[in-house]
Amino acid sequence: MDLYEYQARELFEEYGILVPRAEVADSAKRARASAERLGGRVVVKAQVKTGGRGKAGGVKFARDPAAVELTARQILGMDIKGHTVREVMLAQPVDIDAEFYVSYVLDRSQGRFLAIASAEGGMDIEEVAATRPEAVLRTAIDPFEGVSREKAAEIAAAAGLPEAAADTLTALWNVLIREDALLVEVNPLVRTAQGQILALDGKVTLDDNARFRQTRWGAQGPAHDPETDGLEAAAAAKGLNYVKLDGEVGVIGNGAGLVMSTLDVVAGCGARPANFLDIGGGASAQIMADGLSVILSDPSVTAVFVNVFGGITACDAVADGIVRALESVRLTKPLVVRLDGNNAARGRAILDERGHPLVEQATTMDGAARRAAELAHAA
Ligand code: GDP
Ligand code: MN
Repeated sequence: MDLYEYQARELFEEYGILVPRAEVADSAKRARASAERLGGRVVVKAQVKTGGRGKAGGVKFARDPAAVELTARQILGMDIKGHTVREVMLAQPVDIDAEFYVSYVLDRSQGRFLAIASAEGGMDIEEVAATRPEAVLRTAIDPFEGVSREKAAEIAAAAGLPEAAADTLTALWNVLIREDALLVEVNPLVRTAQGQILALDGKVTLDDNARFRQTRWGAQGPAHDPETDGLEAAAAAKGLNYVKLDGEVGVIGNGAGLVMSTLDVVAGCGARPANFLDIGGGASAQIMADGLSVILSDPSVTAVFVNVFGGITACDAVADGIVRALESVRLTKPLVVRLDGNNAARGRAILDERGHPLVEQATTMDGAARRAAELAHAA
């Protein structure tokens, strides 16, 4: 789970990293009030979980509270790379003398963390990394050794950062480890005209597998997340493993591996999956009904593909689940079902007997995907 900039800022502050004074507001009026408290002139920053806000016009200076209100009105509601801005952060502006980049990221392939640092931070860091990789220092960090003060000083010196950035690097390491993050990034880390080292923008990605011991964000993540997709929230409330994608074929399968290959096969048939939904081993009527109702309420779905390989849960139980789900969910879009594995024949017979006009069966995964793609496009 990614945090918003203002949440990352709060964490940084707690771990002793200097950050500008700031407040969050969800309306232009409240932004104006915040600006008054912060001294009038502020930077108005869109809060969205994506980078490149500056280039998209989501980071703007405003010189007094009235201008802040106008600017906030412009930025709120703005679309940045598919994310709607619902909140802005008002930050006290700082005089920048130099912009740096620092981050730690989990490097799964090496089983280590990677410290990344550059003296050329700011909005063009991706370009710097692509065109002049030598300007970006990468240092492998042994997770058991961590980042000592000495190590941090070494990294700062080698990357051409000011000595004081070593403090940021050690504090940032503590954020990563104690908060169970997979990524912590500060861009830009700045030296101000007054010589202070300040984190001006931050990104933190938390490890969802550690939620059970990270009570701060609650078991379901931050209670207040205006960006969470409504469908994803509804699915999460029902305990479903659902991820919204941007295609048109709804996908239901049992087991993450099968669902992932189903997405590939659907894509291979020239259609785009609308979601990832793993009903897991249970596949009861209730789960099937919950899954179907979530998928059917996605307006971009034009056909649904149910792909089940019967193992411990036999296909007849899944077919029963589908039949009973059809009693509580009004099917409005074609459903292609492929049942294979344990008790497949009995499962198919159950669906045949039910004979719902919008339910079709296919015997192979490829055949079912082709048919679902066809129906999706015909809609
Ligand atoms: P991003 O585009 O989403 O990464 O947003 P940032 O928060 O990193 O802001 C983009 C750029 O705006 C930074 O690299 C800075 O150059 C500039 N910026 C942001 N806040 C301030 C500030 O307080 N003072 C000055 N001078 N520039 C700022
Ligand atoms: Mn940034």
